[in-house]
Amino acid sequence: RKIAWGTARFGRAACAFTFGRAPAVCACGGQAADTTAPSGSVSEEKPVAQVDTDRIAAAAEEPEMWLTYGGTYDEQRHSALGQINRDTLPELGVGWVYETAKPRGAEATPLVVDGVMYVSSAWSVVYALDAKTGEELWVYDPEVSGEDAAKGCCDVVNRGVAVHNGKVFIGVFDGRLEALDAATGEVVWSEVTVDQSKPYTITGAPRVFKDKVIIGNAGGELGVRGYVTAYDVATGELVWRFYTVPNPEKKPDDAVSDAILAKLANETWGDDGAWVTDGGGGTAWDSIVYDTVNDQILIGVGNGSPWNPDIRDPNSDGDNLFLSSILAVDADTGEYRWHYQTTPRDRWDYTATQQIMLADLPLGEGGADRRVVMQAPKNGFFYVLDAEDGELISATPFTNQNWTTGEFDENGRPVLVEEAVDLALYAVIPGPTGAHNWHPMAFNPDTGLVYIPVNEIPFFYDKTRNVKDSKSFWNIGYDAAAGWPVEYPAGTLDAVADMDGGSLLAWDPVKAEPRWAVPFALPLNGGVLSTDAGLVFQGNKFGDLVAYDAETGERLWSEQLVGNAAAAPMTYEIDGEQYLSVLSGWGSVSNLIAGFTYGEAAGKEPARVITFKLGGNEMMPAPLADQVVATPKSPMFGEPEQHQLGMQRFAENCHFCHGAFAISGGVIPDLRWSAISANEQAWDQVVREGALEKQGMVAFSDHLTKEDTDAIRAYVIQQAWLAVANGNASAPGAY
Ligand code: CA
Repeated sequence: RKIAWGTARFGRAACAFTFGRAPAVCACGGQAADTTAPSGSVSEEKPVAQVDTDRIAAAAEEPEMWLTYGGTYDEQRHSALGQINRDTLPELGVGWVYETAKPRGAEATPLVVDGVMYVSSAWSVVYALDAKTGEELWVYDPEVSGEDAAKGCCDVVNRGVAVHNGKVFIGVFDGRLEALDAATGEVVWSEVTVDQSKPYTITGAPRVFKDKVIIGNAGGELGVRGYVTAYDVATGELVWRFYTVPNPEKKPDDAVSDAILAKLANETWGDDGAWVTDGGGGTAWDSIVYDTVNDQILIGVGNGSPWNPDIRDPNSDGDNLFLSSILAVDADTGEYRWHYQTTPRDRWDYTATQQIMLADLPLGEGGADRRVVMQAPKNGFFYVLDAEDGELISATPFTNQNWTTGEFDENGRPVLVEEAVDLALYAVIPGPTGAHNWHPMAFNPDTGLVYIPVNEIPFFYDKTRNVKDSKSFWNIGYDAAAGWPVEYPAGTLDAVADMDGGSLLAWDPVKAEPRWAVPFALPLNGGVLSTDAGLVFQGNKFGDLVAYDAETGERLWSEQLVGNAAAAPMTYEIDGEQYLSVLSGWGSVSNLIAGFTYGEAAGKEPARVITFKLGGNEMMPAPLADQVVATPKSPMFGEPEQHQLGMQRFAENCHFCHGAFAISGGVIPDLRWSAISANEQAWDQVVREGALEKQGMVAFSDHLTKEDTDAIRAYVIQQAWLAVANGNASAPGAY
């Protein structure tokens, strides 16, 4: 693929290069990598992406740009632009649409710097686009291997890039952190940040601060140990690393976390060597924020691995620090400052990785401004902490939750509900998808409200039966099929879907109470943008991008996108025109797991960047026609015992990608309609021997016997015929 970088805007003519793993070749006298060269070395070249810490710290003063993931270092996702407002909304139309190179889930927030949009998509591919026209300037594909898809809990997504001094930084799904030349997309440096033999992945956006770039990782469902690492922006040299949980021997790691793990965390885990662990978890896969005032990094720490603490840490009842915590460390050295654990001894996948937002709120003495940290993590409580020392100011449920009584004991610990600890087929809300997940919230300083995409999805946890410890594989330590009927009667799926919902919630963080909410029938609605015009923008699961009134929640405008908009919208301005941009696509955890909620084969749309402006009159792309023929490919076979075994093995091994009840959300093939399901041998070759490994379907021979795969096939075929019986598929004419 060759692309000419020839726009007069950057004065770079006749520069063509190729993409891929091989270094890019540029016909510009070898100067492509040197974007910051003094004038004279590259004639009439204008340096690009000239962003340093000071410029990001002052980002609120140039709302024409979007310089960092959350808009500013405080990550409030509030823009001072107001050309798009209540009066002009009717004129808002499509300005340009860019289709990304590879489909799957789209979660990124684009950055815009000096006329160029830098955005990432699935498989960690990075794009530089002309932000005014959508014209492609360069594309960088790190060529993540298809097999690595199996290391991810929640699709091969990426939430964004960082820019700094002529470089674009991308956390690659397979664990690399790479610095690209912002002018060309050429790799400047590349560091492997994880042990790639383990199921680590990276989906979060790196952040730059001072002369460092910081990245965490994911993998808490598959068995890893969490940490964050700061690298030198110029060279990629490791500066400091902070582990969020001890290693099994509780030995020093020669990392900056050694001292505090020894002092505080080690004693909250079982005795040396006595505890069984699958990494312990504590991955920091999303929010890592620079607090400029206190010169500290705030890290959102994830859940325990496995989820079941009886398996994760059987010989203690300790809190398992720093799981599910907000952790503050010194920006220069990485040394521990303070922490607040939202969920002691996590057992429900209650990550505190969710968005950390900084703000000055009138919570000081006599209503004086106080600098606070705000978070609405998975566990359903809204936290306000003092940013300087982590002191808890308020913790209030912002939605339905039944894991605590809603009270705190004299030590400030949540009072747990007994059934939520015993977990004998108990439906806990929030479930592992969380009352709030990665979908960004926003804060409007004028209304004083935080706008939160809220989910209500219960989950059946059962630690009393079918509990397996599947090391370095999908490993939650609970019955993966808890609450699954083998043969659900017609209406069951509707009933399950009815339990799920969500809302856009306007939350007052000072009074610690809700102001208004817009309820949705479906959960996991998109990220949020707030603007000075008193508007709140959010995409939803019905494919609409909607503008709401920030004071009242009144729906003011909407446009149907192709595919759903889980990502957060962002806004910028060029030549006096305001633009509004959002990624749409199909994928992410909700589409993978909950096909029954979102409609069978509802998606498959390519991921796109869709950009609106006033007077925009481009056409929205037409939806792709659904090509799946929903017909069983084999007669039903097997006895009830075999179907039961197949359901259990499917729930343990397959449903995280192929969908609960074997109903795919359209991202990964729906096995019920797969031609391979008709053939015992072909099925076994794919499932156990990895015949489709390149497409991400890895071999399951270590986890499944031939008896298991036969049973899974019997269950899948049974589910196909159940869909026919329920009127959701047609019987074949003949085989
Ligand atoms: Ca998790």
